[in-house]
Amino acid sequence: MQQAVNLIKSSNNILILTHKNPDGDAVGSVLGLAQALENIGKNVKCFSKDAVPDVFGFLPNVSKIKNQTIPEKYDLVILLDCALFNRTGLADIKEAASSFDRLLIIDHHPKSETECDYYEKCIFIIDAKVSSTAVLVYELLKNADMEITKDIANCLLTGIFTDTGGFQHSNTDPQSLEAAAEFMKKGSRVDKIAKNIFSSKSMAAIKLWGIALSRIKTDPKTGMAVSYVSRKDIEDFGAKEDDLSGLVNVINTVSDAKFSLLLTEFEDCKIRGSLRSEKYNGIDVSRIARSLGGGGHKLASGFEMNGDLKNNVAKISEMISKANKDN
Ligand code: 5GP
Ligand code: MN
Repeated sequence: MQQAVNLIKSSNNILILTHKNPDGDAVGSVLGLAQALENIGKNVKCFSKDAVPDVFGFLPNVSKIKNQTIPEKYDLVILLDCALFNRTGLADIKEAASSFDRLLIIDHHPKSETECDYYEKCIFIIDAKVSSTAVLVYELLKNADMEITKDIANCLLTGIFTDTGGFQHSNTDPQSLEAAAEFMKKGSRVDKIAKNIFSSKSMAAIKLWGIALSRIKTDPKTGMAVSYVSRKDIEDFGAKEDDLSGLVNVINTVSDAKFSLLLTEFEDCKIRGSLRSEKYNGIDVSRIARSLGGGGHKLASGFEMNGDLKNNVAKISEMISKANKDN
């Protein structure tokens, strides 16, 4: 942590990157850290391969995150909420920075998902026990004696809020709640964040959720609850892919399911799988995701694969059942 503080203090041009399909923790952590660094006079650029979902449009300075970078020289590159460059959607770091002196990785995914050993000049703050990257950013700011403004508090509280499923998942711990309390003391409001994240759905989104929920099937052998959404479904309802965020958590509420899977056709012939479980089921869905080329956390993971959805739902379900058995 102290090395990371020194690194930040001695850097001026800083690039912050995060994973593709950025979630609330990715967006909140990037914006919170960027704001804090700018407040102490640093020149900061932020990059995300995919556009920030509209649901995070309420966050201060959200337009600071660009989905294009002009490769230039940076003193420091910071990778947030992932520890592998391929998770950023960039082939390699050179695509974003023509050169850089130092790399700092701040992440809460399991350490198996890092390649920092390959980077000689890398410092990392990786802790798979914390609920969110936003908590680690908060610890960094405290250690660096950097001021936490209301804007920063809003960004980081959104990160914790989304990665803990609104303080409902088993990763909700005292450290997250203490950080949340600090953010509330700075003027951030959990109820406002909850309203923006959970209760601002378009009619198109609700109807799309309806069709996906009506398709849920459970497999009594594996305990998997599965549903899917095709490109055509999204288009038919005039919805957006972002509208599906949070849906897998609802699929996961089927009481006799041990874990859940949502398959989404996010581009023609490209399928994204989202897996969820609850701690008491004793299933590690990150192992299942990894066996399909993805990764993530024990209770929330994902993967991508090629193929059209219609002909693959049964096949992928079968692969997952097998992966679950093997694990
Ligand atoms: P989601 O289902 O919300 O897209 O993802 C849940 C978790 O799994 C997140 O922590 C995310 O970073 C991780 N994840 C999702 N897709 C992938 C993937 O393709 N590769 C890896 N390594 N992790 C993923
Ligand atoms: Mn996260």
